[in-house]
Amino acid sequence: MADIIIYAAGNPDLYPIEYYDGDGEGYDGIIPQMLADFADESGYELSYYRAGEGDLREELGRNHQVDIISGCIEGENIGGFDDAEGYTRVQLFSSVEDGKTQVYEVYVTDAAPEGLAGELGGFAAEYSAEKQLGTAIATASGGNDHADMTPYLGIAGGLILILAVLLAVLSARYRRALKNHRKSMELDQATGMMTGEALKKWAEENIDGRNRILYYLIYFKIDLDYLQAPGRMERGKEFYRYAATVVKEYVSEGDVAGITAENGIILLCQSLSSDDILDRTLEVEMRLTSFFRRDSFIGRGVVTAGICPMGKFKGTIDESIRYSFHAAVSAGKSELPYVICDDSFIRKTEEVVSLRNEMLGAIRGDEMEIYLQFYVEASSLRILGGEALARWNHPERGMLGPAHFIPALEDEGLISVIDYYCLEKVCRFLDELADMGVNDFFISCNFSRKTFAAEDFVERWEAIVEKHSFQRDMLVFELTESIEPRYRKKMHDNLIETRNRGIHVFLDDFGEGFTSLYDLREYAVDGVKLDRTLTDYADTERGKSILSALIALGHEMGVKIIAEGVESMEQVEVLKELGCDITQGYVIHYPAPLWDIKRSLHESRSQAGR
Ligand code: C2E
Ligand code: CA
Ligand code: CA
Repeated sequence: MADIIIYAAGNPDLYPIEYYDGDGEGYDGIIPQMLADFADESGYELSYYRAGEGDLREELGRNHQVDIISGCIEGENIGGFDDAEGYTRVQLFSSVEDGKTQVYEVYVTDAAPEGLAGELGGFAAEYSAEKQLGTAIATASGGNDHADMTPYLGIAGGLILILAVLLAVLSARYRRALKNHRKSMELDQATGMMTGEALKKWAEENIDGRNRILYYLIYFKIDLDYLQAPGRMERGKEFYRYAATVVKEYVSEGDVAGITAENGIILLCQSLSSDDILDRTLEVEMRLTSFFRRDSFIGRGVVTAGICPMGKFKGTIDESIRYSFHAAVSAGKSELPYVICDDSFIRKTEEVVSLRNEMLGAIRGDEMEIYLQFYVEASSLRILGGEALARWNHPERGMLGPAHFIPALEDEGLISVIDYYCLEKVCRFLDELADMGVNDFFISCNFSRKTFAAEDFVERWEAIVEKHSFQRDMLVFELTESIEPRYRKKMHDNLIETRNRGIHVFLDDFGEGFTSLYDLREYAVDGVKLDRTLTDYADTERGKSILSALIALGHEMGVKIIAEGVESMEQVEVLKELGCDITQGYVIHYPAPLWDIKRSLHESRSQAGR
């Protein structure tokens, strides 16, 4: 049977009753020992929350993150909790100190398993009588400081009792150290949930041909981009502790819950009906999501689930976890609460996964290449710069364009790998050009919005760019407009910081979405690339008026207007007439490999020089 975990908020500073032992990295003292023995006897797991971070009992109690608020003294009333709020006081033992009777107690919260308060109360009564706790403490805690115990050493009876208490504490510490050592391999330190590894082991030992049909693996994926942002680390930790208490409620006998190294939460549970599993999934998801209520701009979509019916799915537990993870990712992308791993889902996932692995190998093996497509001055067709476009020189399939690999990388959250890889190559090329004496040719790099809106974006591009010596204004970042609202702020900040550091920014695919005009007002950029669909209509009257209005708007705002996807000389003429600044398209130049670009630049320059 899976152990139910009891979470306790400890008093770090009540020596020797309950205190935080920095050396042993845990709580020690008479109460922790007593609770550990109680847990052992009753088949619970005991786990102290945020050990060593000060007295957090009030906070943890208020958040309903713990089952027990520990190390309390009657009359002190920690945080003003009372029975009416769903707390039950349980007396552990009493002692006479300085002629006063002190009652030590814990509060059992309503997050605790039913009956815990009664069970613990009964246990405590027997335990304290058996160990004569009251008398022992009366002697041992005569002073609060450890050294203050010396005067009592002369008193024979006291000495024996002190030794008894210390011995009990020490042997408990030793036993617990052993147990913790064993547990640290199995339980996640922060949440007390099983680790992914432990869960796998459990599944291998407990799920077999006979009961497999009953099991479902539900993987809850949490949007880490949000939780891992600096300043939200604490909130992230808090979330996982909260999640642990929620999930615990859905774990019945024969079920387990765990947390993976990637911070996904897994529920491995039995049911006779898949409908029941779907209900359970939705309910857990709703409760986990409710944690983010306060963060008004997020909520929906932060937690998504993948469900793997173990009875139908024939793979190993490892594979079940992997596929249900992918299903959760896919749910997020399709804005669904969950996705079930059925045959077609698995087939599709296998393709994506193998492509991804192949891609990463290709980046390491330097099979990725950059092509450049020239930008020209609309009025003269003079070359001004170029856009870097990723290509994969596949050993069997030949040269592949981004459509073959970018979507898969985006799915896997690996798009930034290719973005920074291209940036490095572009920087190297800009240095080479500078060495050739070419200092007026700019290159633009495409960045996925995910990369651009990441917390570490500026830091990461700076680490690459600072190794090079080309003029910064020769480098342009292209940024696709329209991003999920919750990333807007960061994107905006990154944009400003990037421009402050001398890099130019173009807004790409402008006019493709609905948010374009908003973006133009919101983001100060150096150039706007009109989406290809706008160029496509350059030869119609309506198309012309739209283009002309956008060009006028752009100029009013002081940004360069770039038309991409120009495919006919007619379009070239219209754009020139309308006053567009820069054009780009197959009719002018196709994307070409760097060596070819270098040759063209060399030629055009020597011609100009002649
Ligand atoms: P994009 O940024 O809109 O790039 C322009 C795409 O249009 C390129 O396709 C280019 O080859 C193509 N194109 C250029 N002129 C014409 C034309 O006259 N007609 C037509 N029909 N197409 C034209 P490509 O190279 O396949 O790139 C597709 C998209 O992949 C790019 O769209 C860009 O968003 C993305 N991409 C390329 N490299 C990277 C990269 O390193 N990182 C990221 N995040 N995305 C990249
Ligand atoms: Ca682009
Ligand atoms: Ca574009």
